[in-house]
Amino acid sequence: MTGRLEEKLTRLLGTRSGAALEKMGLVTADDLLRHYPRRYAEPGQLTDMAQLALGEHVSVLARVAEATVRPMRNRGGALLQVVVTDGRQRLALTFFARHAGALRGHEAKLVPGRTGVFSGTVSAYRGERQLTHPDYVLVGGDVEDADAALDEASKPMPIYPATAAVPTWRLQRAVRTVLDPLTEDDVPDPVPAEVRASAGLPSRLEALRLVHAPATAADWRAGQHRLRYEEAFVLQAALAQRRAAAAQEDATARPPRPVDDPGILARFDASLPFTLTAGQRAVGADIADDLARPRPMQRLLQGDVGSGKTVVALRAMLQVVDAGGQAALLAPTEVLAAQHARTLRALLGPLAEGGLLGGAEEGTRVALLTGSLPAAARKAALLQAASGEAGIVVGTHALLSEHVQFADLGLVVVDEQHRFGVEQRDALRAKGRVAPHLLVMTATPIPRTVAMTVFGDLEVSSLTEVPAQRAGIRTHVVPADNPRWMERTWQRVREEVDAGHRAYVVCARIHPDEEDGAAGKAKAAEFDDEVPEFLDGDAEERPPLRAVLEVADALRATPALAGLEVGVLHGQMPPAEKDAAMAAFASGASQVLVSTTVIEVGVDVPEATAMVVFDADRFGLSQLHQLRGRVGRGSAPGLCLLVSTAQPGTPAAARVEALAETTDGFRLAQLDLELRNEGDVLGAAQSGRTSSLRLLRVVKDADLIEEARRAAVALVDADPGLSGHPLLAAAIAAQLDPEKEEFLERA
Ligand code: ADP
Ligand code: MG
Repeated sequence: MTGRLEEKLTRLLGTRSGAALEKMGLVTADDLLRHYPRRYAEPGQLTDMAQLALGEHVSVLARVAEATVRPMRNRGGALLQVVVTDGRQRLALTFFARHAGALRGHEAKLVPGRTGVFSGTVSAYRGERQLTHPDYVLVGGDVEDADAALDEASKPMPIYPATAAVPTWRLQRAVRTVLDPLTEDDVPDPVPAEVRASAGLPSRLEALRLVHAPATAADWRAGQHRLRYEEAFVLQAALAQRRAAAAQEDATARPPRPVDDPGILARFDASLPFTLTAGQRAVGADIADDLARPRPMQRLLQGDVGSGKTVVALRAMLQVVDAGGQAALLAPTEVLAAQHARTLRALLGPLAEGGLLGGAEEGTRVALLTGSLPAAARKAALLQAASGEAGIVVGTHALLSEHVQFADLGLVVVDEQHRFGVEQRDALRAKGRVAPHLLVMTATPIPRTVAMTVFGDLEVSSLTEVPAQRAGIRTHVVPADNPRWMERTWQRVREEVDAGHRAYVVCARIHPDEEDGAAGKAKAAEFDDEVPEFLDGDAEERPPLRAVLEVADALRATPALAGLEVGVLHGQMPPAEKDAAMAAFASGASQVLVSTTVIEVGVDVPEATAMVVFDADRFGLSQLHQLRGRVGRGSAPGLCLLVSTAQPGTPAAARVEALAETTDGFRLAQLDLELRNEGDVLGAAQSGRTSSLRLLRVVKDADLIEEARRAAVALVDADPGLSGHPLLAAAIAAQLDPEKEEFLERA
């Protein structure tokens, strides 16, 4: 498609302006028009010229007194200096250009004697107030009279995300140069006319005019609303299409065994030491039905930490094994994969020893397959997967990308959705002759509109109750700079250990000499397991983050902990050392484990009752909630001490306080969303697709998303291939694969 929107800015605006915009990633007219104003300066009334405050955006009504163009001695280029006056005060207006010729347009208009309204930001040069590159509207030139000039000057002023090289006023001019000549035919609208009509929305071109050149605040609000609707609508249409496509795909039906021919699932149920909760039964029944159909299940299972998802997932896997298939369980890290394999084997008992002497007659095998296995063990696991001997194969996401053969893969269970985006789901569906059933588990409760936006192609089940006998957890905030409280913290840890329990100590980074913030984060990202979700902001003003290695040394020298074994766990350790550290902690050989967030998800040591989190105020709420879920998993109550350097009254302090007040994961997730910025939310959840959502706010725009979703679903139901809506189809294609799209354009 080549239209006016695809034209290069270098062509439309000239090589120099175009190149400067290209540096900002704005290559085509379309790119520029999607560079929406960040905010709008509300036009004040006219400012009294005697009261011009530095840095303020002002509009003044004045008459041109002088206008001179002269070359700039030092810098090269030319300068137009205008002096305007209201009869008493004088104000300088300055325009720069590379060549005097480029200033002719202004010079021709800003003739002495002309009156106009001049708007810009007040700066000072050699003690004199001035406006650099002000906007202006001249009476008798741009408009008929002074009233019209005032009108024009009282429009809200778009303020763009700008750079030093391209300030906002230059962006504004560039946008107007590109936008003003466009007609309806130039601006394809992915929202079909009938949808617009029923939702009362303007066309895309009108919306662009409303946001880039509003006459009133109501204008830009209406424009933004329409563009947000479009973002939601295109995304929801894409998700509706995915759902429709998945509903057409073939899968192998894996119905449960009949009652008179029980299999491993029935035996497992009979061996369970507890009764399933009502929620586990209900969700289990939905999953059993899904698996029995010849269409791939696409289900998200959400439930707070400890709500018993693992048992639900295992029962689904056993149904598939009973039906002759295999199940794969994917964890985000190797530590967690190993942990899952242990948990599943423990839950299955003799049922996991199929084919072994002393194993159950009707049993299966659980194979663990990770990159760090010794060659012989790895080969054995690969063989078990390929032969079908292992009904359950546990590993990291690498299981899907590596050359792992399954005899008959029927179900994939993914633990933790955040790192398993749309692309991975697609890769999975592409694997094998028919798509396996998919169950994604998440312990982070997802508010409905986020689920709808990010996981709109999945059915959602929730486990809302937590099995009864858990003893609960108390959480306190400990100010890091209070030595008495810190001392008391280590005494409490000692008391827990003396009572036969164990304690985690969590730090945000590994080495004390690592940089904080972005650089430290980038470094940490090289080691998959532990990227603390830092929240931006005032990092510079904070004390440096505490580090695992430094804290471990300090604790070994802490009198309250004398005689205790302090272990260390972080992602830079070789896998064998990690396993050894976990095993030592699980067995009680070490009683205190200083660790990064590796332990965030799933690690299960029932004897661990205490957790101390350093720099707790620097973590996200959901992440802290996950971390906290690691303690108090047995019958003894848990204790979580959040060491914080946050100043009272800051959002960071609000986060840790919220955590101390509630253990309701759903409330915390909602709060977390409200306290952080949207980009983080979507960024964490849908890799590579954030660029498509520029204005949409998942929490605040919940109603709009619902409305757009209804319209999108209706439209896709009526026209699944979107053959009648090519513009929408094109917008979806561009949105779902921006990289590819860009590549095609450049090729
Ligand atoms: P999740 O994976 O959702 O965090 P788990 O499946 O690990 O939760 O369950 C947490 C603990 O509760 C485990 O020790 C598990 O064996 C136990 N559990 C699961 N379901 C029940 C139940 N219905 N009654 C009692 N205990 C249960
Ligand atoms: Mg679990």
